[in-house]
Amino acid sequence: SERTLVLVKPDGVSRGLVGEVIARIERKGLTLAALELRTVERAVAEEHYAEHKDKPFFGELLEFITSGPVVAIAVEGVRAISAFRQLAGGTDPVEKATPGTIRGDYGLETQFNLVHGSDSAESAERELKLWFPEL
Ligand code: ATP
Repeated sequence: SERTLVLVKPDGVSRGLVGEVIARIERKGLTLAALELRTVERAVAEEHYAEHKDKPFFGELLEFITSGPVVAIAVEGVRAISAFRQLAGGTDPVEKATPGTIRGDYGLETQFNLVHGSDSAESAERELKLWFPEL
């Protein structure tokens, strides 16, 4: 069993899709180890997305992720990291995510792709420390 960090991003929260995301996590057989509604401070956002700091969309990404509350969830279960990536679908909600995934069912634009999920064991460990240091 392993843990991964899931975020319902500000677009997912403002569109009322938190319950939908949690339902899919639970139906898959994964469990919730911690959950919090939180407005992200810029420093935390910069740390979270540190790997993208040289990308042209970094500024926009920080603006977006700090634009309203997110729901941060520590998700636990067998192969939780890749299992949630499967539920989320590819980064681009139209070109990459397929119908049946969260992004494929609800998203249109890459920036507004509703959810985040850690992409490796190393990222999960780093991100969970950042978001849930007490866990
Ligand atoms: P996440 O890390 O949020 O789970 P991901 O791993 O699928 O997403 P990354 O390549 O790590 O995708 O990009 C991180 C986030 O940055 C994306 O989820 C998206 O919100 C944003 N992003 C990525 N590429 C672009 C782009 N070309 N234009 C605008 N925003 C982008």
